[in-house]
Amino acid sequence: MKKKTKSLKKKLIRELKPAWDIYTDKEKKKVLEYGNGFRNFLSLVKTERETVEWMRSNAERNGFEVDSKKKGKKFYKVNQNTSIALSILGSKPVSEGVRIVVSHIDSPRLDLKPNPLYEEIELALFRTHYYGGIKKYQWTAIPLSLHGIIIKENGKKIKINIGDNPEDTVFTIADLLPHLYRKTQSQKKISEAIEGEKLTLLAGSIPFPDNEEKERVKLAVMEILYNKYGIKEADFISAEIEVVPAMPARDVGFDRSMVGGYGQDDRICGYTSFSAINAIKNPEHSTLALFVDKEEIGSVGATSAQSQFLVDCIREIISRKEKTSTFDKIRNVFNSSKALSGDVNAAINPNYQNVLEEKNAAKLGYGVVLTKYTGAGGKYGTNDASAEFLSEIRGLFNKNKVIWQTGELGKVDEGGGGTVSQYIAQYGIETVDCGPALLGMHSPFEICSKADLYETFKAYRAFLKS
Ligand code: MN
Ligand code: MN
Repeated sequence: MKKKTKSLKKKLIRELKPAWDIYTDKEKKKVLEYGNGFRNFLSLVKTERETVEWMRSNAERNGFEVDSKKKGKKFYKVNQNTSIALSILGSKPVSEGVRIVVSHIDSPRLDLKPNPLYEEIELALFRTHYYGGIKKYQWTAIPLSLHGIIIKENGKKIKINIGDNPEDTVFTIADLLPHLYRKTQSQKKISEAIEGEKLTLLAGSIPFPDNEEKERVKLAVMEILYNKYGIKEADFISAEIEVVPAMPARDVGFDRSMVGGYGQDDRICGYTSFSAINAIKNPEHSTLALFVDKEEIGSVGATSAQSQFLVDCIREIISRKEKTSTFDKIRNVFNSSKALSGDVNAAINPNYQNVLEEKNAAKLGYGVVLTKYTGAGGKYGTNDASAEFLSEIRGLFNKNKVIWQTGELGKVDEGGGGTVSQYIAQYGIETVDCGPALLGMHSPFEICSKADLYETFKAYRAFLKS
């Protein structure tokens, strides 16, 4: 190439490199180690409740006090056991706004129905209803674990966590053998091959020893549950039991550059924003890391991004800074606040490159992804971030040496999806989507690059400090 062309190209054309080409050996080591911490977190924490518990105890250890104490500059607030927020008060007046990173800690899964246990051909089974967008066939023929709670009529709460300890028993959805699936499955569309009502878990096969009775296996399973947990069939009505893959997260690839595991959408942003707020001291603006529930079913209800929890958190920050919080003050703080909506995007899959448009799609290992808009069918259902805010954020990332790329959730007419950003933006908060890209999103084994994971942490830390 001629020298002039080369220098013009360097000046004018945006060129991206894999993060691995940018890192020094020392940085590479740090990135891989950070990935190991995330892998352990993913193996340990598989539901929104478990995430809240994990965050609560780690926040306490790192000097965040529970909101009711009303003393320190660092506090946390829990909303109905499935969403949580951490905050550090800044040195500037609160009227200059709050820096917010919001992510969701629920993931697609199966939930047990309120009357789950039944018997068919001398097998005990659990009925489920799937939560969020899953490809149903991915959930058959794999080991599954049960996580959640059962609350008896007297209010006693029983925690359930079976299947993730290597000695535990597991549950599974038996699939049809390929020898006999011609009419029942193979001729159907993939989305219809497995029906929702057929996502039933094998739960036992030894009958209760009384030949005269019916449904003896169901009775025998209930007896085991009664002896172990003291529960009766009706107690499933007041329960939340989630069925999730019973596998630990693992490193992926010879170079161990990727992490595979369940629940990365969106606990990857939960983990990185939690570690980011724990990594900053004495910020100028007050900061808030918000972790919400129910994103996968449309951000509905009392614990989602559309709930009043964000308002309660901002009110708490104002009253700690200025003793009283009025409606005017709250509105002013919202209007001067800024937020990153931490959620995952789709990375180009080597086998299915055609669903994304290459120049605007995210690539694994190219850093954290800034997503101006998500949505589907003509940007329907998205917060389309402003040019002003994107200018500010890319400047901030470049100043802080964050490796970043842009992303788009699919080709124009291909499909799409949403995040919580539109619900945060409606308060008047400048908001943009920002998080890593995954392969196999919503599957039982999602994959991220450890480089993108680390750059997401760096991005959130830089933003919360700004
Ligand atoms: Mn998500
Ligand atoms: Mn999702």
